[in-house]
Amino acid sequence: MRYVSTRDSSINITAAGSIARGLSSDGGLYTPSNLPKISTNDISRLCTTDYAGRAKTIMKLFLDEFTEAELEAYAKAAYGPDNFDHPGVAPLFKLKDRLYFLELWHGPTSAFKDMALQILPHLLTASLRKTGETKKVRILVATSGDTGKAALEGFRDVGGTEILVFYPRDGVSEMQKLQMTTQEGKNVGVCAVEGNFDDAQSGVKEIFSDVSLKQKLEDQNVFLSSANSINWGRLLPQIVYYISAYCDLINSGGIIPGESINFCVPTGNFGNILAGYLALRMGLPIHKLICASNANNVLTDFFSTGIYDRNRALIASASPSMDILISSNLERLLYYMSDGDSRAVRFYMNSLAKDGRYRIDGELVARLSTVFAAGYCDDDETKQEINSVFRSHGYLIDTHTAVASKVLSQYRKDRGDNSPCVIVSTASPYKFSGSVLSALGEMKAALSGFEQMDWLYKITGAPIPEKLNEIRTKAVRFNRTVKKEDMKKAVMDLSRLF
Ligand SMILES: *Cc1c(COP(=O)(O)O)cnc(C)c1O
Repeated sequence: MRYVSTRDSSINITAAGSIARGLSSDGGLYTPSNLPKISTNDISRLCTTDYAGRAKTIMKLFLDEFTEAELEAYAKAAYGPDNFDHPGVAPLFKLKDRLYFLELWHGPTSAFKDMALQILPHLLTASLRKTGETKKVRILVATSGDTGKAALEGFRDVGGTEILVFYPRDGVSEMQKLQMTTQEGKNVGVCAVEGNFDDAQSGVKEIFSDVSLKQKLEDQNVFLSSANSINWGRLLPQIVYYISAYCDLINSGGIIPGESINFCVPTGNFGNILAGYLALRMGLPIHKLICASNANNVLTDFFSTGIYDRNRALIASASPSMDILISSNLERLLYYMSDGDSRAVRFYMNSLAKDGRYRIDGELVARLSTVFAAGYCDDDETKQEINSVFRSHGYLIDTHTAVASKVLSQYRKDRGDNSPCVIVSTASPYKFSGSVLSALGEMKAALSGFEQMDWLYKITGAPIPEKLNEIRTKAVRFNRTVKKEDMKKAVMDLSRLF
C-alpha cells in the first residue's frame, strides 16, 4: 500500500517511509492512497481475540512491509499489563441502555494518547530500520497537555531516539505540567513556550520546514521526526479501538452484528475522530460521527457553514486538550471527502496559512453532513454535565469526555437519533481534579493538586490511577521556558535541557 501527500498525490512512499518521516516535505500529511475493507465476517473473527490481537490484525492491513509476528510483538508489548491497568485495555462502560463510554485512559499517562503513543516507538524504530536510516531521530512534539506526557512515556530510553516536548506555559493543567516536568529517562527533554498551543504547534511546524536547521542537525547525524497526530503511525493505532469497541458491543449483546452505531468524540486536532472516519470507510457500521467541541468551536462552525475560520481568540477552557484553533487532521478528511483531490486540499491549506480561513463548496458540506454531526458546549455546561452524570449514575467523567456527553444529549434531542452511541472517553477525571471538583460543587480554594486528587477520591470513591499518584514523590527535572522564536535554539541544543 502506498501513502500519498494530501497536498500532492504524485508524492507517494511506503508505510515505513511515511512513519519514519512524519510530515511530507510539501507540508502535506501522508495518507493511505486506498483504504482496506473489513467485512462482517472479519469483524466476527476479531470479536474472538483480545485487544492486542485486534490491533495486530487491523494494523497489518495497512503495513505491508511489517510481518504479523512483528506487529504481534509490538502490540503485546504496548498493550500489556505493565502499561494498561485494565485487562480489556480499552473497555466499554455501559451507562444505560444504548449509551456507553469507551474508556481510553487506562494507560500509563491516563489519557487516550497512550493508545497510539505506546505503540508508535515500536513502529517508528522499525520503520527507521526498514528504510535504512542510520541517523539518530529527534522527535519533536507540540502538546496541548496530554500528547507530551504520552510521547515522553512512549519514547523514554528507546535506543536511537531523543524526544523534546514543547508545551504552552499557561495552557495546561497543574497535573499535566507535573507529569511532564517530572519525566524520567535519559533521552527526554521538556520545555515550556510563552503563548498558547497554536504557538507551540506552529513553532514546531516552522522548525520542520527550516532547511538550514535540518542541515545543521544532519551534520550532527540527527534528523527530525514528529510524534504529533500528523504522523500516520499515530493515527493507525487509533482505528483499532473503534473496531474493538464494536466487537465488545457485539460480545456483550448490546448490538447485533451489522447494526449501525454512533460515536461521539471530544475533538481538538481531529486525530481521534478521523480514525473513526477511517474505520467507517473500511466498513465498520457507523451511522454518525459526532464531533464535540468546547467553546473553541471552529469545527462546529465548519460543519454547519463550510467555512473554516481560525481568526478568533483562543479561549482557555476547562478542557485544555481541546483548546485548538487549527485542527491539523481535518486536512486528511478533506482529502478523502474530495475523493483525493490534492489540488483542492493544497488550495484550502494555502488559504488557511495566508488568511486563516478557507471555504469548501456546498456540495462538499452536504457530503460531510451525511457522516458527521457537530456541536459544542461551554465550561458551565461541561461542569453541569459532570455533575449530572455523577449524581444520576455514580459515574465520574473528566471535562473533555463531559463535552462529548453534553453534545450527544443535545444531538439526540435535536435529531431524535437514538442509535446506540459510544462516547469516546479521553482522560481520567484525576488529570483535571480541580475542574471536576468544582463541577461537583466540592472545590475548596486552598487545595493543592494532590490534595484535590485525594478529596475527589474521598467524595467519589473512583480509583486514582497509580501512575498519577506516584508523581507526588517525584522531583521536577525541567523548568525552562522559551519564547516561540527561541524554540529552534532549544532543538539545536538539547544538552541544555537534559
Ligand atoms: C488530545 C485530546 C483530545 C482531542 O483529541 P484530537 O485527536 O486532538 O481531536 C480530547 N481529549 C483529551 C483528553 C485529549 O488528550
